[in-house]
Amino acid sequence: MYGDRGNIICLKKRCEWRGISLRIEEIKNPDDASKSGCDLFMIGGGSDREQSIATERLTPLVKEIKAWVEDGVSALTICGGYQFLGDYYEMKNGEKLIGMGILPFYTKAGDDRLMTNLLVESEQFGNVVGFENHGGKTYHNFSTIGKVINGYGNNGDSGEEGLHYNNLIGTYLHGPILPKNPRIADYLIEKACERKTGRKLDPLEDAMEIEANQAVWERFRHSKRTKYKNEA
Ligand code: GLN
Repeated sequence: MYGDRGNIICLKKRCEWRGISLRIEEIKNPDDASKSGCDLFMIGGGSDREQSIATERLTPLVKEIKAWVEDGVSALTICGGYQFLGDYYEMKNGEKLIGMGILPFYTKAGDDRLMTNLLVESEQFGNVVGFENHGGKTYHNFSTIGKVINGYGNNGDSGEEGLHYNNLIGTYLHGPILPKNPRIADYLIEKACERKTGRKLDPLEDAMEIEANQAVWERFRHSKRTKYKNEA
């Protein structure tokens, strides 16, 4: 959804530019997932309807995914994929989608749709930019990606965005998130390389990525929030 697949292209390119080959496996059903584990995984977002289908399909993989996360596998989970990490997502119609329960937190859909350009100030990743569109409001007590400068983030009240646990990142940032936030992309790749080979990453030039990031930051850091009805 919202170009989240662009994150895969970004990871592949940033590996290639360093002579690292990245084998990508798209999991369409649990049996596809190679039991040999993985070095990095991504779960994208989706509408409530798609999420209820994906939840059912992915549930057989939950034990594996939990073990990967605890073992420090790098992971990027976006919006619906982020919500799926927790205990449940209570949709607007009151139906609860049972999550993977990897971490004890929950998401509850509100009346408003949290939809805007999201800017986050992060100690670890600098100025982070992207787009958010979600009805779900997430509540957890784990480390976050950072402070919301423009937009809603986790729930529109805490002023914080995302979740950071071991080498797992949960976020409401679509865009896709990685091309304009190369420090997050490199964090995920480096943690995967370190875990597998102990290898550190050589820096890349990133002039265009940084310029794109700054352009979005400047454009939206003073914008106002608009309320949208959550029709999900
Ligand atoms: N359906 C979920 C929500 O509305 C997630 C949306 C998304 O992945 N963009 O909150």
